[in-house]
Amino acid sequence: MADKSVRALAAELKNFLSAHEEEDFISAAATNQAAAGFSHVKADVQAPPLHTKPAHSVSEQVLYQEAAPAPKPAKKAVSHSPAQDTLTVVFGQPVPQHPQTITVEKPQPAGTPAAEENVSPAGGAMTTEEKTAALAELAATIKNCSRCPLGDTRLNAVPGEGNVNARLMFVGEGPGYDEDRQGRPFVGRAGQLLDKMIAAMGLKREEVFIANIAKCHPMVDPQHPEKHGNDRAPNAQEIACCRKYLEKQISIIMPEIVVALGGVSAKALIADAKSLGALRGKFYTLSLDSVSLPRPVKILATFHPAALLRNPGWKKDAWADLQMVMAHMGLKAPSK
Ligand code: SF4
Repeated sequence: MADKSVRALAAELKNFLSAHEEEDFISAAATNQAAAGFSHVKADVQAPPLHTKPAHSVSEQVLYQEAAPAPKPAKKAVSHSPAQDTLTVVFGQPVPQHPQTITVEKPQPAGTPAAEENVSPAGGAMTTEEKTAALAELAATIKNCSRCPLGDTRLNAVPGEGNVNARLMFVGEGPGYDEDRQGRPFVGRAGQLLDKMIAAMGLKREEVFIANIAKCHPMVDPQHPEKHGNDRAPNAQEIACCRKYLEKQISIIMPEIVVALGGVSAKALIADAKSLGALRGKFYTLSLDSVSLPRPVKILATFHPAALLRNPGWKKDAWADLQMVMAHMGLKAPSK
């Protein structure tokens, strides 16, 4: 009986094999594997289609993507979180073509007084360090400048000097003989008088910023820079060439008030051709050509110290102008 059963089974097997050629079977099996995306797994493992497979793990994702038809290199983005000490790998996301700008905010200690933050009390947004660096860079540019003919004959350019957080700026017309030699503003006799005027206002020279509208020495006779009495006021072209440097200085320092010393400076900065006598004695709002200021800055015109040396009778009027500035700034004259 057993032999009969064995023979019957053998006969069925023979019939089955004759009905299915070996090549057909191999071909069908290969087709099933490719459809499932598993070229390297056993044929009896039925994998679900790729798009329905949940992403359970990174290793599974890698496996499926490697087996996908017409595979493309998977781009990956990597980010590291030090706080959590984890490394996240995300496949399939585009790699940024340009590095992203990252802003790192420096933590500020709580309760730091404004004065210690080195921010201008006038409200400028730059720190003292930023102002110092910006003014130093500007001064270096001025010292190499030859935008106008004054650059060919000067001994030294005179960018200006003083407190980068000054509430008050004094602006003259241009360097003279002494300034040209020292590269500093208002260091001759007129400068000594200006120092006295500043002291009379209850300030020190180091607390204000002093500059000129032209940064190089205008000379009557440029062929003889060694001569005394060779000074002149800058002309309109020289002022037009140079004023952007002063405007940049003002925009960096952001004083409350600019005092224009003399008619040339006053007319250029107030943009009014009236005489100094007509311009002085009142405040104007400063309007600059090359920069816009974040808040209004006032300007007041008064006599140039050199003019006061020649005409001491004008000192009373100059003192009246300075008292207007003092009242505006809340300054008191030092007691004698
Ligand atoms: S006066 Fe001003 S513009 Fe002329 S060369 Fe000197 S810095 Fe340059």
